Amino acid sequence: MQTFSQRVLAWFEKYGRKHLPWQQQATLYKTWVSEVMLQQTQVKTVIPYFNRFMRRFPDILTLANASQDDVLAHWAGLGYYSRARNLHKSAQIIRDQYHGLFPNNIEDVTALPGIGRSTAAAILALTLNQRHAILDGNVKRVLSRHQLIDGRPNRSATLKKQWAVAEKLTPQRACGQYTQAMMDLGSLICTRSKPKCRECPVYVDCGAYQSNCIDDYPNKQPKKTLPEKNTTMLIITDDQRIYLEKRPSKGIWGGLWSLPEVSGTTIACFLKRLGLSEDDRQPLDTYTHTFTHYKLHIQPLIIRVNHLNTGFRQTEVKQLGLPKPVQHLISNLHY
Ligand code: SF4
Repeated sequence: MQTFSQRVLAWFEKYGRKHLPWQQQATLYKTWVSEVMLQQTQVKTVIPYFNRFMRRFPDILTLANASQDDVLAHWAGLGYYSRARNLHKSAQIIRDQYHGLFPNNIEDVTALPGIGRSTAAAILALTLNQRHAILDGNVKRVLSRHQLIDGRPNRSATLKKQWAVAEKLTPQRACGQYTQAMMDLGSLICTRSKPKCRECPVYVDCGAYQSNCIDDYPNKQPKKTLPEKNTTMLIITDDQRIYLEKRPSKGIWGGLWSLPEVSGTTIACFLKRLGLSEDDRQPLDTYTHTFTHYKLHIQPLIIRVNHLNTGFRQTEVKQLGLPKPVQHLISNLHY
Protein backbone atom coordinates (compact mmCIF):
# COMPACT_ATOMS: atom_id res chain seq x y z
CA MET A 1 0.00 0.00 0.00
CA GLN A 2 1.17 3.53 -0.74
CA THR A 3 2.09 5.73 2.21
CA PHE A 4 -0.46 8.09 3.76
CA SER A 5 1.07 11.15 2.07
CA GLN A 6 1.31 9.45 -1.34
CA ARG A 7 -2.40 8.67 -1.28
CA VAL A 8 -3.29 12.16 -0.07
CA LEU A 9 -1.13 13.73 -2.79
CA ALA A 10 -2.65 11.55 -5.52
CA TRP A 11 -6.13 12.58 -4.34
CA PHE A 12 -5.08 16.25 -4.33
CA GLU A 13 -3.80 15.98 -7.89
CA LYS A 14 -7.33 15.04 -9.02
CA TYR A 15 -9.63 16.83 -6.61
CA GLY A 16 -7.67 19.45 -4.66
CA ARG A 17 -8.32 23.20 -4.81
CA LYS A 18 -5.86 24.92 -7.11
CA HIS A 19 -7.74 28.01 -8.24
CA LEU A 20 -8.22 29.99 -5.06
CA PRO A 21 -7.31 33.68 -5.48
CA TRP A 22 -4.34 33.52 -3.09
CA GLN A 23 -2.92 30.50 -4.95
CA GLN A 24 -2.50 32.50 -8.16
CA GLN A 25 1.08 33.79 -8.36
CA ALA A 26 1.34 33.03 -4.67
CA THR A 27 3.55 35.22 -2.51
CA LEU A 28 4.31 35.01 1.19
CA TYR A 29 2.20 38.14 1.68
CA LYS A 30 -0.88 36.74 -0.11
CA THR A 31 -0.60 33.39 1.65
CA TRP A 32 -0.17 35.10 5.01
CA VAL A 33 -3.26 37.31 4.58
CA SER A 34 -5.35 34.36 3.36
CA GLU A 35 -4.21 32.07 6.18
CA VAL A 36 -5.08 34.68 8.80
CA MET A 37 -8.49 35.30 7.20
CA LEU A 38 -9.13 31.55 7.02
CA GLN A 39 -8.64 31.09 10.77
CA GLN A 40 -12.21 30.53 12.03
CA THR A 41 -13.71 31.48 8.64
CA GLN A 42 -14.73 29.42 5.62
CA VAL A 43 -13.13 29.72 2.19
CA LYS A 44 -16.26 30.99 0.43
CA THR A 45 -16.69 33.78 2.98
CA VAL A 46 -13.03 34.74 2.80
CA ILE A 47 -12.73 35.07 -1.01
CA PRO A 48 -14.53 38.45 -1.44
CA TYR A 49 -12.82 39.86 1.65
CA PHE A 50 -9.43 38.71 0.39
CA ASN A 51 -9.94 40.25 -3.05
CA ARG A 52 -11.08 43.56 -1.58
CA PHE A 53 -8.19 43.58 0.90
CA MET A 54 -5.65 42.93 -1.86
CA ARG A 55 -7.06 45.69 -4.04
CA ARG A 56 -6.66 48.16 -1.19
CA PHE A 57 -3.41 46.76 0.33
CA PRO A 58 -1.59 45.09 -2.57
CA ASP A 59 1.70 44.74 -0.65
CA ILE A 60 3.17 44.75 2.83
CA LEU A 61 4.29 48.39 2.73
CA THR A 62 0.86 49.66 1.72
CA LEU A 63 -0.62 47.69 4.62
CA ALA A 64 2.04 48.87 7.08
CA ASN A 65 1.55 52.53 6.11
CA ALA A 66 -2.26 52.42 6.25
CA SER A 67 -4.23 53.63 9.27
CA GLN A 68 -5.69 51.06 11.63
CA ASP A 69 -9.16 52.44 10.82
CA ASP A 70 -8.61 51.70 7.15
CA VAL A 71 -7.46 48.13 7.86
CA LEU A 72 -10.37 47.46 10.23
CA ALA A 73 -12.84 48.86 7.69
CA HIS A 74 -11.64 46.20 5.24
CA TRP A 75 -12.04 43.52 7.89
CA ALA A 76 -15.46 44.59 9.13
CA GLY A 77 -17.85 41.64 9.11
CA LEU A 78 -15.16 38.93 9.24
CA GLY A 79 -15.07 38.99 13.06
CA TYR A 80 -12.17 38.22 15.41
CA TYR A 81 -10.77 41.71 14.85
CA SER A 82 -7.55 41.06 16.74
CA ARG A 83 -6.54 39.20 13.56
CA ALA A 84 -6.67 42.46 11.58
CA ARG A 85 -4.89 44.45 14.27
CA ASN A 86 -2.12 41.84 14.44
CA LEU A 87 -1.82 41.73 10.65
CA HIS A 88 -1.34 45.49 10.64
CA LYS A 89 1.16 45.37 13.53
CA SER A 90 3.11 42.57 11.84
CA ALA A 91 3.26 44.50 8.55
CA GLN A 92 4.82 47.41 10.46
CA ILE A 93 7.38 45.08 12.09
CA ILE A 94 8.23 43.64 8.68
CA ARG A 95 8.61 47.17 7.26
CA ASP A 96 10.83 48.29 10.16
CA GLN A 97 12.87 45.17 10.87
CA TYR A 98 12.89 43.15 7.65
CA HIS A 99 13.15 45.91 5.00
CA GLY A 100 9.55 45.19 3.99
CA LEU A 101 10.27 41.56 3.04
CA PHE A 102 8.23 38.82 4.69
CA PRO A 103 10.69 36.60 6.63
CA ASN A 104 11.29 33.13 5.26
CA ASN A 105 12.32 31.14 8.30
CA ILE A 106 9.91 29.58 10.74
CA GLU A 107 11.31 31.20 13.91
CA ASP A 108 10.98 34.74 12.56
CA VAL A 109 7.52 34.08 11.14
CA THR A 110 6.25 32.53 14.39
CA ALA A 111 7.54 35.56 16.33
CA LEU A 112 5.19 37.92 14.44
CA PRO A 113 2.00 38.94 16.29
CA GLY A 114 -0.98 36.70 15.57
CA ILE A 115 0.98 33.93 13.82
CA GLY A 116 1.09 30.60 15.65
CA ARG A 117 3.12 27.52 14.84
CA SER A 118 0.61 26.03 12.41
CA THR A 119 -0.05 29.28 10.52
CA ALA A 120 3.68 29.97 10.17
CA ALA A 121 4.23 26.43 8.92
CA ALA A 122 1.37 26.71 6.41
CA ILE A 123 2.64 30.04 5.02
CA LEU A 124 6.15 28.68 4.41
CA ALA A 125 5.05 25.28 3.16
CA LEU A 126 2.38 26.59 0.79
CA THR A 127 4.50 29.38 -0.68
CA LEU A 128 8.07 28.10 -0.51
CA ASN A 129 7.46 24.36 -0.30
CA GLN A 130 9.43 24.24 2.97
CA ARG A 131 8.89 21.11 5.02
CA HIS A 132 6.80 21.93 8.08
CA ALA A 133 3.88 20.05 9.58
CA ILE A 134 0.65 21.97 10.09
CA LEU A 135 -2.14 21.37 12.57
CA ASP A 136 -5.19 23.50 11.90
CA GLY A 137 -8.75 22.46 12.79
CA ASN A 138 -9.21 20.45 9.59
CA VAL A 139 -5.95 18.56 9.97
CA LYS A 140 -6.65 17.82 13.64
CA ARG A 141 -9.94 16.22 12.62
CA VAL A 142 -8.43 14.06 9.85
CA LEU A 143 -5.52 12.88 11.98
CA SER A 144 -7.60 12.28 15.12
CA ARG A 145 -9.96 10.07 13.14
CA HIS A 146 -7.38 8.30 11.04
CA GLN A 147 -5.02 7.59 13.93
CA LEU A 148 -7.65 7.34 16.71
CA ILE A 149 -6.03 10.08 18.78
CA ASP A 150 -7.83 10.38 22.11
CA GLY A 151 -7.85 13.37 24.43
CA ARG A 152 -9.76 16.56 25.20
CA PRO A 153 -9.52 19.06 22.30
CA ASN A 154 -6.78 21.67 22.60
CA ARG A 155 -5.31 20.23 25.81
CA SER A 156 -1.52 20.21 25.65
CA ALA A 157 -1.33 16.40 25.96
CA THR A 158 -3.72 16.00 23.01
CA LEU A 159 -1.92 18.61 20.93
CA LYS A 160 1.39 16.90 21.61
CA LYS A 161 0.06 13.62 20.20
CA GLN A 162 -1.51 15.37 17.19
CA TRP A 163 1.68 17.30 16.40
CA ALA A 164 3.76 14.12 16.65
CA VAL A 165 1.50 12.37 14.12
CA ALA A 166 1.41 15.42 11.86
CA GLU A 167 5.23 15.58 11.86
CA LYS A 168 5.53 11.86 11.17
CA LEU A 169 3.14 11.88 8.20
CA THR A 170 4.43 15.04 6.49
CA PRO A 171 6.44 13.97 3.44
CA GLN A 172 9.97 15.10 2.67
CA ARG A 173 8.94 16.38 -0.74
CA ALA A 174 5.90 18.18 -2.21
CA CYS A 175 5.21 19.62 1.21
CA GLY A 176 3.34 22.62 -0.19
CA GLN A 177 0.91 20.41 -2.10
CA TYR A 178 0.57 18.06 0.86
CA THR A 179 -0.29 20.99 3.14
CA GLN A 180 -3.02 22.21 0.79
CA ALA A 181 -4.18 18.61 0.31
CA MET A 182 -4.64 18.05 4.04
CA MET A 183 -6.59 21.29 4.38
CA ASP A 184 -8.79 20.31 1.44
CA LEU A 185 -9.28 16.77 2.70
CA GLY A 186 -10.49 18.14 6.03
CA SER A 187 -12.85 20.69 4.56
CA LEU A 188 -14.18 18.73 1.56
CA ILE A 189 -14.15 15.06 2.62
CA CYS A 190 -13.45 14.51 6.31
CA THR A 191 -16.07 17.05 7.32
CA ARG A 192 -17.28 17.61 10.86
CA SER A 193 -20.57 15.84 10.21
CA LYS A 194 -21.29 13.19 7.57
CA PRO A 195 -17.74 12.76 6.23
CA LYS A 196 -17.58 11.27 2.73
CA CYS A 197 -15.46 8.31 3.75
CA ARG A 198 -15.98 6.32 0.55
CA GLU A 199 -14.36 9.17 -1.38
CA CYS A 200 -11.50 9.47 1.08
CA PRO A 201 -8.04 8.40 -0.12
CA VAL A 202 -7.09 7.00 3.30
CA TYR A 203 -10.25 5.15 4.36
CA VAL A 204 -8.62 1.72 4.01
CA ASP A 205 -6.51 2.24 7.12
CA CYS A 206 -8.59 4.92 8.85
CA GLY A 207 -9.03 3.79 12.46
CA ALA A 208 -12.32 5.58 13.03
CA TYR A 209 -13.88 4.44 9.75
CA GLN A 210 -12.78 0.84 10.15
CA SER A 211 -14.01 0.68 13.76
CA ASN A 212 -17.21 2.53 12.92
CA CYS A 213 -16.65 5.21 15.56
CA ILE A 214 -16.18 8.36 13.48
CA ASP A 215 -18.52 10.39 15.68
CA ASP A 216 -16.23 9.83 18.67
CA TYR A 217 -13.27 11.55 16.96
CA PRO A 218 -11.97 14.12 17.57
CA ASN A 219 -13.15 13.64 21.18
CA LYS A 220 -15.80 16.19 22.09
CA GLN A 221 -15.40 19.14 24.40
CA PRO A 222 -17.86 18.74 27.31
CA LYS A 223 -20.86 21.00 26.60
CA LYS A 224 -20.82 24.30 28.48
CA THR A 225 -23.69 26.74 28.66
CA LEU A 226 -22.52 30.12 27.44
CA PRO A 227 -22.89 32.96 29.92
CA GLU A 228 -25.27 35.71 28.81
CA LYS A 229 -24.88 39.48 29.01
CA ASN A 230 -27.28 42.33 28.30
CA THR A 231 -26.59 45.77 26.98
CA THR A 232 -28.45 48.77 25.61
CA MET A 233 -27.09 50.37 22.46
CA LEU A 234 -28.11 53.88 21.54
CA ILE A 235 -28.75 54.71 17.92
CA ILE A 236 -28.54 58.49 18.21
CA THR A 237 -29.51 60.26 15.02
CA ASP A 238 -30.78 63.59 13.74
CA ASP A 239 -31.93 61.83 10.54
CA GLN A 240 -28.85 63.20 8.73
CA ARG A 241 -26.10 61.59 10.75
CA ILE A 242 -25.60 58.88 13.31
CA TYR A 243 -23.46 59.08 16.43
CA LEU A 244 -20.72 56.42 16.71
CA GLU A 245 -17.88 55.94 19.16
CA LYS A 246 -14.52 54.32 18.61
CA ARG A 247 -14.00 51.39 20.95
CA PRO A 248 -10.80 51.06 22.99
CA SER A 249 -8.09 49.22 21.06
CA LYS A 250 -8.13 46.26 23.47
CA GLY A 251 -11.08 43.94 24.10
CA ILE A 252 -14.18 43.00 22.12
CA TRP A 253 -14.41 44.86 18.78
CA GLY A 254 -11.20 46.69 19.70
CA GLY A 255 -10.56 49.74 17.50
CA LEU A 256 -13.89 49.43 15.65
CA TRP A 257 -16.60 52.07 15.52
CA SER A 258 -19.70 51.14 17.47
CA LEU A 259 -22.92 52.45 18.97
CA PRO A 260 -22.59 53.87 22.48
CA GLU A 261 -23.64 51.49 25.26
CA VAL A 262 -25.22 52.82 28.43
CA SER A 263 -27.43 51.46 31.13
CA GLY A 264 -31.02 52.80 31.26
CA THR A 265 -30.49 55.28 34.08
CA THR A 266 -27.65 57.14 32.43
CA ILE A 267 -29.14 57.85 29.00
CA ALA A 268 -30.16 61.37 29.98
CA CYS A 269 -26.70 62.07 31.46
CA PHE A 270 -25.03 60.63 28.40
CA LEU A 271 -27.02 62.88 26.07
CA LYS A 272 -26.38 65.87 28.30
CA ARG A 273 -22.65 65.23 28.13
CA LEU A 274 -22.90 65.40 24.33
CA GLY A 275 -25.02 68.55 24.60
CA LEU A 276 -28.01 66.81 23.03
CA SER A 277 -31.66 66.87 23.91
CA GLU A 278 -33.91 64.00 23.01
CA ASP A 279 -36.89 64.51 20.66
CA ASP A 280 -38.11 60.95 20.48
CA ARG A 281 -37.19 57.46 21.70
CA GLN A 282 -38.02 54.18 19.94
CA PRO A 283 -36.95 50.73 21.13
CA LEU A 284 -36.23 48.10 18.44
CA ASP A 285 -36.39 44.32 18.81
CA THR A 286 -33.67 42.77 20.94
CA TYR A 287 -30.80 41.38 18.89
CA THR A 288 -28.60 38.53 20.13
CA HIS A 289 -25.01 38.08 19.05
CA THR A 290 -23.05 34.99 20.05
CA PHE A 291 -19.33 35.34 20.75
CA THR A 292 -17.10 32.34 21.43
CA HIS A 293 -17.34 32.90 25.17
CA TYR A 294 -20.71 34.51 25.77
CA LYS A 295 -24.02 35.61 24.31
CA LEU A 296 -24.76 39.30 24.11
CA HIS A 297 -28.40 40.44 24.11
CA ILE A 298 -28.56 43.93 22.67
CA GLN A 299 -31.52 46.21 23.29
CA PRO A 300 -31.28 48.84 20.54
CA LEU A 301 -32.86 52.18 21.21
CA ILE A 302 -33.29 54.84 18.53
CA ILE A 303 -32.89 58.30 20.04
CA ARG A 304 -33.86 61.12 17.72
CA VAL A 305 -32.24 64.45 18.48
CA ASN A 306 -32.53 67.86 16.93
CA HIS A 307 -28.99 68.30 15.65
CA LEU A 308 -25.78 66.25 15.79
CA ASN A 309 -22.42 67.94 15.34
CA THR A 310 -20.20 64.92 15.67
CA GLY A 311 -22.01 62.15 13.80
CA PHE A 312 -21.35 60.36 10.53
CA ARG A 313 -23.37 60.48 7.35
CA GLN A 314 -24.44 57.20 5.72
CA THR A 315 -21.73 57.43 3.03
CA GLU A 316 -19.08 58.01 5.72
CA VAL A 317 -20.31 55.08 7.81
CA LYS A 318 -19.67 52.78 4.84
CA GLN A 319 -15.96 53.63 5.06
CA LEU A 320 -15.70 52.69 8.75
CA GLY A 321 -14.99 49.35 10.39
CA LEU A 322 -18.18 48.40 12.22
CA PRO A 323 -18.91 45.12 14.05
CA LYS A 324 -21.49 42.97 12.27
CA PRO A 325 -24.28 43.40 14.87
CA VAL A 326 -23.90 47.19 14.66
CA GLN A 327 -24.00 47.04 10.86
CA HIS A 328 -27.18 45.02 11.19
CA LEU A 329 -28.80 47.37 13.72
CA ILE A 330 -28.32 50.47 11.60
CA SER A 331 -28.91 48.83 8.22
CA ASN A 332 -32.60 49.76 8.07
CA LEU A 333 -32.17 53.22 9.45
CA HIS A 334 -32.78 56.15 7.11
CA TYR A 335 -30.40 59.00 7.75
S1 SF4 B 1 -12.11 7.60 6.16
FE1 SF4 B 1 -13.64 9.07 6.79
S2 SF4 B 1 -13.16 9.51 8.92
FE2 SF4 B 1 -11.37 8.52 8.04
S3 SF4 B 1 -10.06 10.19 7.41
FE3 SF4 B 1 -11.28 9.60 5.65
S4 SF4 B 1 -13.10 10.91 5.69
FE4 SF4 B 1 -12.10 11.04 7.69
